[in-house]
Amino acid sequence: MPELPEVEVTARALAQRLDGRTVEAVRIHNFQLRWPVPRRLAAHLAGKRIEHIGRRGKYLLWYMSEGVLLSHLGMSGSWRIHEAGPLPPRQRHDHVELVSDGAVARFNDPRRFGALLWHAREHGDVLAHPLLAGLGIEPFDRRFGGDWLFQATRGRRMSIKQVLLAGSAVVGVGNIYATESLYRARIDPRAEAGRISRARYQRLAEAISEVLTRAIAAGGSTLRDFSSVQGVAGRYTDFALAYDRAGLPCARCGAPIRRLVQGQRATYYCPHCQRR
Ligand SMILES: [Zn+2]
Repeated sequence: MPELPEVEVTARALAQRLDGRTVEAVRIHNFQLRWPVPRRLAAHLAGKRIEHIGRRGKYLLWYMSEGVLLSHLGMSGSWRIHEAGPLPPRQRHDHVELVSDGAVARFNDPRRFGALLWHAREHGDVLAHPLLAGLGIEPFDRRFGGDWLFQATRGRRMSIKQVLLAGSAVVGVGNIYATESLYRARIDPRAEAGRISRARYQRLAEAISEVLTRAIAAGGSTLRDFSSVQGVAGRYTDFALAYDRAGLPCARCGAPIRRLVQGQRATYYCPHCQRR
């Protein structure tokens, strides 16, 4: 499933190619995504200028002259840009095509949990949209840090791993990245969030920033021929220290990494150097 780094890499790739360009045409081949694609979406977008493509949580935000296109990758979505020249045949799950400046951006989504929604300018700030308003702070927001996590978790009895996955304390720390961040911060994923000290949260916040930055860089290096969001997590796991390493020795102490299931998600941790 695409996580924040994949979405960030997608946003950067799309922005690099399409910011400031005008949409010539939009072709929608399948309106049945997670929510129905607005019938008039193509009319809203055609002839409009793309001011900037950015991200909030796992939503791509295409700021246009008269509103914002919200797009989500869901479980299996990806955008691919085809440059001028013979256009390769449309694949079975290419549901939407956006034509601009000689390039065609195609949205592919086999499982169709992705989304494309339109937020007209007269409806106000897109960040107040019901899908975005409740999101936690961005991990790269300057207010985010150990103090923020400490405050956000007071009184919470849930495990720290599940608090991270819930996204209310901070967005974008999905399963792989939560597992890796907790390993680096030496915090047992089962530790009760409300009982972790401020000092340990400082370490965790630093680990989250490091892990996400590294994952974005792993995907960012291939921005030019960006094609598959799955590729980012794939490359990141090449240098994961805990994720998917059950039975292999911990890089710090040599004890075998263990796997457990929390909230139906696999967690990997070192029972020797990660503490509750
Ligand atoms: Zn260890």
